[in-house]
Amino acid sequence: MSRNANRIILLGGPGAGKGTVAMTLVDRFALQHLSTGDMLRAAVAAGTELGKTANGFMSHGALVPDDVMVGLIQERVQQADCRLADGTPRFLLDGFPRTMPQADALDRHGLGPDVVVYLVVKDEILVRRLTGRRSCPKCGNPHHVEFAPPLHEGLCDRCGTALVHRVDDQEAAIRKRIDLFHSQTDPLVQRYAPLLVTIDGEQSQERVARSVIEGLRALEATGS
Ligand code: AMP
Repeated sequence: MSRNANRIILLGGPGAGKGTVAMTLVDRFALQHLSTGDMLRAAVAAGTELGKTANGFMSHGALVPDDVMVGLIQERVQQADCRLADGTPRFLLDGFPRTMPQADALDRHGLGPDVVVYLVVKDEILVRRLTGRRSCPKCGNPHHVEFAPPLHEGLCDRCGTALVHRVDDQEAAIRKRIDLFHSQTDPLVQRYAPLLVTIDGEQSQERVARSVIEGLRALEATGS
């Protein structure tokens, strides 16, 4: 990968496959995976103040306020596992930024991305994927009742934990999340145009993974 590709952002609607691509990139490039959705769900499960604040927004498919999210990421990236030995910030952001003010905050703190991977998936496919999605609350491995059923019913193929149907993976919340993606997150595609690796997210998981790796390698080859 390019010498400079220390910070990668994953963009895409809910259910576009960001979590799955993240696993590929983490395995391949040893980046620290920062999923704001996972961080918030952990806070909800732990019953922290952040979790209590976030839960009301998340359960309805609404966005958690920008100042809360920016504070969360700012604090997280200070930690040693998000830095190279010389202090350079290095991480993979999944689910952040989701709004223009969040992207502004990254730039303000010198944390802007080197590469932005954009997964394109049509809305009706996002809805089908999310209504049938069953998530592992422990390792994040996604399953689907129709497209990727677990080997043992209700249990994660990777770690054996009981799978959950997320409250925000119910139809009303899904529609809201998709609407918010178009109104709040779509504009980031324009903003990051020069850094964008655009991937057809409707391909098989294997093809998506291969396309992402090839896209990053192509960037490396051009040195951009
Ligand atoms: P995700 O797992 O990325 O689909 O996120 C689940 C939920 O967490 C979202 O629907 C939001 O309620 C909240 N969330 C995650 N990341 C952000 C963010 N960057 N800004 C605002 N809300 C967020």
